[in-house]
Amino acid sequence: MRIRIDEEKCQGHNRCYALAPELVDVDDMGTAHVLNGGVVPEELAEKAQLIVDNCPEYAIEIVDG
Ligand code: SF4
Repeated sequence: MRIRIDEEKCQGHNRCYALAPELVDVDDMGTAHVLNGGVVPEELAEKAQLIVDNCPEYAIEIVDG
């Protein structure tokens, strides 16, 4: 599984980082970025789905798997 963040949609609420700092980081401008090229380890798959479901801007998507 991989995730992708649309930085144009991201409004920097930090919700994804608060929920899954293993998967995303937020830069000084408040824009979220995926870690590890977006690759989600199997054990973090539920967390990946959680941040997809909790992003108020629908900026995070699962791109495969
Ligand atoms: S929850 Fe969505 S809008 Fe908020 S920082 Fe993460 S990707 Fe950006």
